[in-house]
Amino acid sequence: MRFISEKARKQGVIFIRFDKDAPPEVKSSSEGIVVTVKDHILQQQVEITAELLTLSAGMTAEDTGELSGIMKLNRNPEGFFIEAHVKLRPVDMPSEGVFLCGTAHGPKLISETIAQSQAAASRATTFLAKDEIKLSAITAKVDTDHCVKCLTCVRSCPFGVPVFNTETKVIEINEAICHGCGVCAGVCPRQAIQLSFYEDDQIACKIDALMEAVPVRLMP
Ligand code: SF4
Ligand code: SF4
Repeated sequence: MRFISEKARKQGVIFIRFDKDAPPEVKSSSEGIVVTVKDHILQQQVEITAELLTLSAGMTAEDTGELSGIMKLNRNPEGFFIEAHVKLRPVDMPSEGVFLCGTAHGPKLISETIAQSQAAASRATTFLAKDEIKLSAITAKVDTDHCVKCLTCVRSCPFGVPVFNTETKVIEINEAICHGCGVCAGVCPRQAIQLSFYEDDQIACKIDALMEAVPVRLMP
């Protein structure tokens, strides 16, 4: 959208921002339509006489909050959903198997929406076309003997994976949907969560080996 506004400016379009509390006023006169608005940079009233007034309503993301909470989808400050990576994964959401297109992503032209929808459909097809999907082997596991059920991992996981099973009274992590990010292992106050291939002992050994390899120079 920024490029479109730049192109419009180069062709002579003038954009004027106004304060929400002081919206533009429109009056009809013998010379035509007169729009009066306070320019927020000049801090002065600007009067524009026009032959034609066209209204274009803005777009807001008012109903994304509930879906974002249920599916753990990231949103920007304006409430639109955010892609996993703007260049490398432009139609993927951070949650696996969820794809993004159209105005869920932000206001855009219909041509952009169609192109993005086709890209999202193609990405979804890459999963649906497979008989099997390989998952990452790096997942979190809970040692239920050491868990004190503080629920810190439940609150911290960005993907909502750990759950407290009310019947068995233990924390459960579904390895099929765990992203292996390690957040839960880092925040667990009891070190009751370990990440496969990145267990605490393995990390400690690597740090020890690294420190042995680095010559330590004592300052006089
Ligand atoms: S953060 Fe650790 S101790 Fe707390 S509920 Fe999760 S696994 Fe148990
Ligand atoms: S490793 Fe990451 S995705 Fe998996 S349960 Fe822990 S915080 Fe959630």
